Amino acid sequence: MIIALALLAQATDFMTKDEALKLFFKNGERAVERCVTLDDADRKKVEEKYGSTVPAAQDVIVGVKDGKVTGYAMIVSEITKTLPVTFIVGLSPDGRVLEVAVLRHDEHIGTDCAKRRFLRQFDGKQPGDRLKMGANYDVVSGATLSCNAIARGVRRVLAVVQHHFLDRPANAAAFTQDEPVRQQRYVMGTTCTVTAHGDTAAVDKAFDAIKAVDAAISNWRDDSDLAKLHRDRSIDAGPELLSFVRGSLALSERTDGAFDVTVAPLVELWGFKGGERRVPSREEIGAALKRVGWRQIRVNGSRITLPEGVALDPGAIGKGIAVDRAADALRKAGVKRALVDFGSSVAAIGEWTVAIRDPFAEGKVLLTVTIRDETVSTSGSYEKFFEDSGKRYTHILDPRTGRPVEGVASVSAIAASGAESDALATALFVSKKIPEQVEALLVTDRGERTATGRFEKSK
Ligand code: AMP
Ligand code: MG
Repeated sequence: MIIALALLAQATDFMTKDEALKLFFKNGERAVERCVTLDDADRKKVEEKYGSTVPAAQDVIVGVKDGKVTGYAMIVSEITKTLPVTFIVGLSPDGRVLEVAVLRHDEHIGTDCAKRRFLRQFDGKQPGDRLKMGANYDVVSGATLSCNAIARGVRRVLAVVQHHFLDRPANAAAFTQDEPVRQQRYVMGTTCTVTAHGDTAAVDKAFDAIKAVDAAISNWRDDSDLAKLHRDRSIDAGPELLSFVRGSLALSERTDGAFDVTVAPLVELWGFKGGERRVPSREEIGAALKRVGWRQIRVNGSRITLPEGVALDPGAIGKGIAVDRAADALRKAGVKRALVDFGSSVAAIGEWTVAIRDPFAEGKVLLTVTIRDETVSTSGSYEKFFEDSGKRYTHILDPRTGRPVEGVASVSAIAASGAESDALATALFVSKKIPEQVEALLVTDRGERTATGRFEKSK
């Protein structure tokens, strides 16, 4: 009977971490938990000023709502007799104790320190308050060591919060910045990573948008709108297919045909679309070239018509379009900062520093470039290639010669839209020239670089 009562008392006095956090952060704030570290100089300062020794690393939970700190909480353990008492101290944003709650007490005597009538004596205490037994708080008889341990811990929490957060507002501000949501999925034949300062629902919408692009313009599936166009030769196109075709034509015009969405027969001939990779004969190339040429595509309103033998390859622009749509979806969902990263095409909402890979070493960064509400795309000879008689043949083809481009390792280009930067990177790979006003980087297969704009300044 006595034992049962004691257990009952314990059950009501002890709290779980979640219960305590609900008590401290009761207005729907997010509890952001991170480890803060204090270097030796900081620890010395805290000790001199507040008389508390503090650990080099300490987990802190910061309540955040609407970009503001709503309070702090720290879980600390202090030795009572030989075993620790573990408790949580909740503080207001100005560093006063809101509440102390005991989470666990390992020693079997002294558990009465968990009683409210003891703990509430700390409410309202602030850094610098002397917490002296008898003068500032009374202990519960039979629990002196535990009560004093708690007082010691409270003093320590007050000191750390004052020193690390209240005296250094930047440290508090770092907690109020949203933790981004990051998701990686396999789409359009590669992995795409979306990092967004927003909720998961927004990221889901970004991936839905990418899937919609794929459903419209994929040349790998037979249920896409593009597959229907290839079958029927003339169709009333939906907005996604139409925008892909119109955008491609504009970029062909702009790049003098270096980017040409009708290279499909050549891509197939050289075996870059799943076929046998081989060097075709001159005659074969000549025959395929007759079916290539963007001017053969007819667009009339929403009707697209392809002459017999002409086929479209979205490979050089599709991922660019996809990152554009994903970014649009994120913006529509209210996201103010995000990165959609397909590897070869990246779209930034807000400012991001993006790494450009070394074309000669996978996993190595050649340089970084900062983009803001822009996109950057890279075409590389390393993406797809084959070797024959010691010669390397890459997947980017010159629509004029019908042969793989030689001498270029990679090209990166910055542009407002992903469709633009993706198509431009491919086009510059073919033309090997960076037009005026285009910010790009061209690396030859001997490692020589030509750079304009931000790429020139990048290291
Ligand atoms: P990217 O990696 O963006 O340069 O795209 C390369 C892919 O686009 C190739 O794998 C081909 O499917 C296709 N392609 C190759 N050469 C061209 C070209 N000159 N214009 C348009 N698409 C091309
Ligand atoms: Mg491209």
